[in-house]
Amino acid sequence: MVAPFEQLIHREGDSGDFITTNPENCVACKKCMIVCPVNLWKLENGKAVIRGEYKQICLECGSCWQICDYNAINFKYPKGGTGVIFRRG
Ligand code: SF4
Ligand code: SF4
Repeated sequence: MVAPFEQLIHREGDSGDFITTNPENCVACKKCMIVCPVNLWKLENGKAVIRGEYKQICLECGSCWQICDYNAINFKYPKGGTGVIFRRG
């Protein structure tokens, strides 16, 4: 079953890898897991990893990048004409 938020968003074009991680910096504080509105982060072997399909679900809010105090997450907005489009709400 498709989650409600996935019915509200549409993605345009290939946005590339706009979130990457520096796993050597991650201290497993879990803040990114708490803040992500669509639950894209999990711990794997003591390091935060983002779900493989994040490009289809991520809202591009940048919260995970903002909240990480250890420079373990890199975020940049997808290039113009690509990325998330909110259909409603
Ligand atoms: S907020 Fe940063 S340090 Fe904390 S678990 Fe996430 S990536 Fe790791
Ligand atoms: S940018 Fe926002 S929606 Fe995307 S992974 Fe980070 S916290 Fe989650």
